[in-house]
Amino acid sequence: MPTRYDSIVIGTGQAGPSLAARLAKAGRTTAVVERGRFGGTCVNTGCIPTKTLVASARAIHMARRGDEFGFTTGGPVHVDMARVKARMHAIAGQSSTGVERWMKQTPGVTVYEGHARLTGPRSVNVNGAELEAGEIFLNVGARAVVPDIPGAAAVPLLTNRGIIELDTLPEHLIVVGGSYVGLEFAQMYRRFGSRVTVIERGDRIIPREDDDVSETLLSILQAEGIDVRLSATCLALAPASPGVAVTADCAQGPAVVEGSHVLMAVGRRPNTDDLGLEAAGVATDARGFVVVDDHCRTSVPGIWALGECNGRGAFTHTAYHDFEIVAGALLDGDERRITDRILCYALYTDPPVGRVGMTIREARASGRRVLVGYRPMTKVSRAREMSETQGFMRALVDADTKQLLGAVVFAVGGDEILHSLLDVMYANAPYTTISRAVHVHPTISELIPTMLQDLKPLPA
Ligand SMILES: Cc1cc2nc3c(=O)[nH]c(=O)nc-3n(C[C@H](O)[C@H](O)[C@H](O)COP(=O)(O)OP(=O)(O)OC[C@H]3O[C@@H](n4cnc5c(N)ncnc54)[C@H](O)[C@@H]3O)c2cc1C
Repeated sequence: MPTRYDSIVIGTGQAGPSLAARLAKAGRTTAVVERGRFGGTCVNTGCIPTKTLVASARAIHMARRGDEFGFTTGGPVHVDMARVKARMHAIAGQSSTGVERWMKQTPGVTVYEGHARLTGPRSVNVNGAELEAGEIFLNVGARAVVPDIPGAAAVPLLTNRGIIELDTLPEHLIVVGGSYVGLEFAQMYRRFGSRVTVIERGDRIIPREDDDVSETLLSILQAEGIDVRLSATCLALAPASPGVAVTADCAQGPAVVEGSHVLMAVGRRPNTDDLGLEAAGVATDARGFVVVDDHCRTSVPGIWALGECNGRGAFTHTAYHDFEIVAGALLDGDERRITDRILCYALYTDPPVGRVGMTIREARASGRRVLVGYRPMTKVSRAREMSETQGFMRALVDADTKQLLGAVVFAVGGDEILHSLLDVMYANAPYTTISRAVHVHPTISELIPTMLQDLKPLPA
């Protein structure tokens, strides 16, 4: 006999736990299923561990810059990877056990540990136990793509999951993929002391960003001693002594790069391939993402998909917003939509790249008359005081409506600073809301009004 619940939540990523707690609080008996560590990618192998490591890497980098700031450390900085990783595990572990305790102690929530598969539109099997519910919420997330290239099975490949567990320093880390995940690891491991080579198939890194963002970040990474191979497709992998040989089809440089470790950072795929979606009739797109409407509803009434598995956002904040959308509709009578959100994220290199809304390329393609404000960090006094003059900020404005279209704050603190622009965009207010504001001196943010007082037409 199946065990009957009002709701079943599959996955305890960034949407599931909050939703389960809200459903239970509203009186719905709720089963929560988790096959791995509680808290999902962000907590265990994504945001929290990587940002903890980025913080260690930055502290190490700053210690090496003592000469610039007027101090000496009494010798070379020695990095103890076991301690770096212990700090990371302590911080990320606390979050994971916090989610687990929360789920196990929430009245009205029953936790099942195991792999869940749908067996029909209202039923789920976990380790042989049959569960039934009128509402099923999928929050199963995604995992790293490991491309089917010759030799992939013959060498020890790292993904974000494996590299997080490594507590030794790779002598030479080869990062395949010059985008967000790969570049955060590339810079931090270079700062920890590894030799690092990035292999990127495009002709620039972070190809979704504007050209000057890619070029500036490239020169920052190269200045730190990272070897970046562009227009280089990774074609084959083979064991080498010691480590791994990567054969790359390169426009420049040798075709074989030998390293001690290889990190695959070439994209993510949804965890929907072994979820029984076909048994329930839930539609997916060609890449396996669950197709949802603006309210996270799938093709099957009574089944929702939230977070990365619905392909509508690849971030913790978008997954959490999906929870707010579903809880708003089911419990609060508050209609919220996926399309309400403005694209925003940060790439946590140092300096970070804070991004909101459109790029220059997208603004041009939109056919609008666009104004642009630009400020290099060399012309921001706080940045000079901090010896952090790499990067720039830029905002794009619709010349007719005066609305902000997008911005990049590629600067120390850029991940935080971008929110002053983002909030004005959410308020649907004109850019003059900021250009006429008085900001605190001396800050990086203080130059945002100045930048917006000097807008120029975007060259065609
Ligand atoms: C290295 C890295 C760094 C990142 N950094 C950032 C960042 O700085 N900022 C940011 O916003 N985003 C970042 N992300 C992305 C972010 O981690 C994800 O977008 C976010 O965690 C997605 O949340 P989710 O709720 O969709 O799924 P997840 O967090 O992936 O959770 C899914 C859960 O479902 C479970 N599960 C899957 N299938 C089943 C099943 N069949 N049965 C039972 N349980 C199942 C999994 O075990 C997992 O616990 C990063 C990602 C990576 C890889």
